[in-house]
Amino acid sequence: MPAILRVGLSVPDTEAEGPGRRFAIWVQGCPLRCKGCCNPELFAFSGGIERATDDLAAEIANTPGIEGVSFLGGEPFSHVGAVLDVARRVRAGGLSIMIFTGFTLAELRARRRADIDELIALTDLLVDGRYRRDLPETRRRWIGSSNQIMHFLTDRYSATDPQFYRRNTVEIRLSRDGLLVNGWPGAADALATTLTTCTDDRMAGRPAAALRMNSTAHRPGPHATKGR
Ligand code: SF4
Repeated sequence: MPAILRVGLSVPDTEAEGPGRRFAIWVQGCPLRCKGCCNPELFAFSGGIERATDDLAAEIANTPGIEGVSFLGGEPFSHVGAVLDVARRVRAGGLSIMIFTGFTLAELRARRRADIDELIALTDLLVDGRYRRDLPETRRRWIGSSNQIMHFLTDRYSATDPQFYRRNTVEIRLSRDGLLVNGWPGAADALATTLTTCTDDRMAGRPAAALRMNSTAHRPGPHATKGR
């Protein structure tokens, strides 16, 4: 029986959630509840949709042009069995793995669990630590607060690569399901608010057919698009 991963959101090809073009997966459910988390809708372990890891891994494998997968949250290590199942296949297919976690690497290793240790071993780049609203990151890209550490666990990426210090970006997608904004939380939220206002004005008096706005982004802390 395939494992099931509860997914709050996924974006199959983004350049706003880690190095290069990546398949981004926001898992649904986080026990840490950092103050100022931009993804409080991902706290509950009961929301999102259930994805069979087989199907998710196949979707990733069939996405052209990506160099890796980013797991954001929610808290990926609170879903370690299913995330590990996907990560094994991702690495077997030659793609890189980046994980944003609210736990510190030391906390994860102290658990002495084989599944956690294996997931860490499969990870190229781990961003760890709770999001601290009082310590906003101003220098590193994709990072929410300055206490969070980027652990380069393999030689696939390097801390000296200038891409880790470029400006953060946001992306906008319009589809039949609505409008999705992902990327840096502050900018994404401002853009989402502006677009919602414009949409409300233009849709006034028309059937509520409409436009659904999703602002996402959690990086643990800057975990993801809102939860960075
Ligand atoms: S910032 Fe990350 S670790 Fe903290 S509550 Fe939000 S999702 Fe959880």
